[in-house]
Amino acid sequence: MPTPTRKHARSRRDKRRANWRLSIPAIVSCPQCARPVLAHHACLACGYYRGRQVITVRSKDSAKA
Ligand SMILES: [Zn+2]
Repeated sequence: MPTPTRKHARSRRDKRRANWRLSIPAIVSCPQCARPVLAHHACLACGYYRGRQVITVRSKDSAKA
């Protein structure tokens, strides 16, 4: 693998590192129970994902499951 021809200056290195950010987790509200859930994850409160029940939730407010 080729190596860089020139050393990057400290300022250049530090400018690159200064633009690093943590990404905020994508939170959406569950269409089934309207609670906040992580996007692309099954809802932990009601167990629904893409309009159907995918996990069984044992809690008092989802007694219908
Ligand atoms: Zn839900």
